[in-house]
Amino acid sequence: MLLDQHGRQIKYLRLAVTDRCNLRCRYCMPEEGIAFAAREALLDYDEILFLTGVLSRMGVEKVRLTGGEPLVRRELTTLVEGLGKQFPKLAMTTNGILLPRYLEELMAHGLRTYNLSLDTLRPERFTRITRRDNFEGTMAALRLLLEAGCRTKINMVVMRGINDDELFDFVELTRDEELDVRFIEAMPFNDDDGNHDVFLSYDAMRLRLLERYPDLIRDQEQGGSAVTFQVPGYRGRVAIIPAYSRSLCGTCDRLRLTPRGTMLNCLYSTQGLELLPLLRSGISEEELESLIREYVYGKYASGHETERREQQGNIFASMTSIGG
Ligand code: SAM
Ligand code: SF4
Repeated sequence: MLLDQHGRQIKYLRLAVTDRCNLRCRYCMPEEGIAFAAREALLDYDEILFLTGVLSRMGVEKVRLTGGEPLVRRELTTLVEGLGKQFPKLAMTTNGILLPRYLEELMAHGLRTYNLSLDTLRPERFTRITRRDNFEGTMAALRLLLEAGCRTKINMVVMRGINDDELFDFVELTRDEELDVRFIEAMPFNDDDGNHDVFLSYDAMRLRLLERYPDLIRDQEQGGSAVTFQVPGYRGRVAIIPAYSRSLCGTCDRLRLTPRGTMLNCLYSTQGLELLPLLRSGISEEELESLIREYVYGKYASGHETERREQQGNIFASMTSIGG
């Protein structure tokens, strides 16, 4: 069992497999001038599977593939096949554009749970937010996932003045579909325009939803990072993720691994455990296990505490280098 100093059991790994992406969402990546990692600076699949094998024996049950866009990493299905043998629960967060090419194979390896990032239902807005003209690509992925019967959640980063007038349109998607819609607070990152000017808080979103849907039923996912609701009679659910307010850190059960092999206890960590050199110097499973145990034990109580102890000022990196 993998425990931190606050008694939380760590069961969930968010595995970022690349920092590259086929979109350039304005809240996530700058338009240009990005220093992507060279191939040899990334953990290769053997290194990842060696490490995840150790984590699985330490009690990690679930792995979510993320990035960057996980599907742009070459031969990702090979990695998923290996992970499918180690973990009972696999999931992926994706913009979906490459999903039609790979879905069948991914499902065959046990990957049937997807978070699809979709911030607007209007094509021209999609192009403005993602800086790429591919609304149809993500919508096609949504249709495909629902047809295939995959557990599907839509991630919408809510931005005041940009897409917050679409909250109710997204809620209405849950009327007839077995679908979750998750409204995510925009977190600032170190881009030139940050996200402060567009920030809409968890509380503001909740009030807007309650005004329109006064009978919303609330429940909190166990160990989850979201507060979930359901409109009575609707098939799906809606959730709000206080990614920036960080009010749900107390039940956090997750660990992150960046594409460059840095293990992070928290989305707000800047100082992690550098595993790539250790894996390349032939560290044994036992040594690795003991280093991870010690690192994870030090996980701070909340993202606020992590930020206070590890960072100076606002130096939030792009989610593509951390794994969103
Ligand atoms: N490319 C994939 C995708 O977009 O689904 C996976 C990686 S992406 C970094 C993971 C999630 O982080 C996405 O749902 C994205 O919307 C979210 N995200 C990225 N930057 C964010 C930010 N500044 N604030 C809140 N969420 C963010
Ligand atoms: Fe790419 Fe996902 Fe970031 Fe958008 S949110 S730029 S799709 S990694």
